Amino acid sequence: MISAQTIWSKALPKLEEEMTPTSYKTWVKDIRPISVEGNTLILMAQNEMYLSTLRQFYSNIITECVNKANNSNYTVSFIIKEEAEPVVSVPVDSAGEKGVFFGVQPKYTFDTFVTGESNRFAHAAAVAVADNPASAYNPLYIYGGSGLGKTHILHAIGNYVHQLHPKFNICFVSSEDFTNDVIAAIKYDTREELRNKYRKLDLLLVDDIQFIGGKEATEMEFFNTFNALHGANKQIVITSDKSPKDLPFLQERLRTRFSWGITADIKPPEVETRVAILTGKAERDHVDITSDALLYMAEQFSSNVRELESCYNRVVLYADFSKRTTIDRPFVEVVLKDYVSSEGKHMVTVDLIKQVTADYFDVTVEELVSTRRDKRIATPRHVAMYLCRTLTDCSYPDIGKAFGGKHYSTVMYSCDTIASEIGQKLDITTAIDDITNRLTNDFNPGK
Ligand code: ADP
Ligand code: MG
Repeated sequence: MISAQTIWSKALPKLEEEMTPTSYKTWVKDIRPISVEGNTLILMAQNEMYLSTLRQFYSNIITECVNKANNSNYTVSFIIKEEAEPVVSVPVDSAGEKGVFFGVQPKYTFDTFVTGESNRFAHAAAVAVADNPASAYNPLYIYGGSGLGKTHILHAIGNYVHQLHPKFNICFVSSEDFTNDVIAAIKYDTREELRNKYRKLDLLLVDDIQFIGGKEATEMEFFNTFNALHGANKQIVITSDKSPKDLPFLQERLRTRFSWGITADIKPPEVETRVAILTGKAERDHVDITSDALLYMAEQFSSNVRELESCYNRVVLYADFSKRTTIDRPFVEVVLKDYVSSEGKHMVTVDLIKQVTADYFDVTVEELVSTRRDKRIATPRHVAMYLCRTLTDCSYPDIGKAFGGKHYSTVMYSCDTIASEIGQKLDITTAIDDITNRLTNDFNPGK
């Protein structure tokens, strides 16, 4: 009799052909063929989560490919360990007019997202949702700390669904943008248009939902949008820095709804994942960098991928300047010496950062904490906020307070902007380096 292994190895190329690379890699590659019992091919999934998703959403395509490739008529059954049960069928999608595709950044895809223990579940859930909008998990709620890939995954879902269903109406919105939309709609009396904009969507991606907490009109509007979309069987994906139950301001009814679908958290990546993220970047950038140099960087930044990336960008930028072809560990150590150093960290205060940053940019501290938005003032302010975040133990709200009572989402946005500009923009990079130097050396009496 023909073995499960043989049947499966014939089916794999067919599956690879029929599925997108991402869903193949996520769902099919690690399946293990176990045995053939009569007319049933038994396959083993890694765990409970894979089992239920495979049964629910991938069993049809797998059955079809197995039988096409083997010219057979097997039924496919999934198990984990000892257990076995029959399979269920999958829904198919429908399509309409050419869709709107709004706010999704093409550069964030599943292809460039590196998975590890820390994010495996969130990633798998995201792929399942992208493969089966509104039928896998609705809503999908992803939460975790800053710089761990939440926004990346959210865009990736948007890009993926857009590719598979060009006719879908897709919108990516930060909760700040959503709030601004609501405020504008109230001001200009255009609530009806606002509703039409959001309620015709097939996929709504909302980033950083924690920021709508406590804003009553916005919460109400979001609540209604959520209900309209969910009721019409449209997919909603939400990210946040906290789990639904830990969102302090949010009304109970929204909190409850956020837990209707599935909640997945992302944790800081393990060192292997951090190395893999850097390796991927170096490959895409065609940068020649030794593995111990990558490991050294990965060891310095353990809890935030955004900071890891800005460290990498900085190294690559300096290598470029010095016309270096190969980046090795000694070079990285030199470039990161001041950046990484946390000595003197406790000596640095918010007031000192404000003063030194203001001096550096030739503005006054009063201007720095004012509400002025022109670039001459805004850039130094962003830099100072970023330095407060990285060199002191202050939280975003603390920093907001110290800069004239700014909302913490504004602070977070400023810090993210600077972090992503380090290594990309020379003026910002040198400003951060110089000011950090002054703060940790010149002003540190211990040195
Ligand atoms: P968050 O929204 O959680 O604060 P982001 O999605 O903005 O974080 O991620 C910060 C940066 O780190 C982005 O440039 C993103 O591409 C990158 N990043 C985070 N996690 C990963 C990962 N697992 N693989 C590849 N890149 C990642
Ligand atoms: Mg984000």
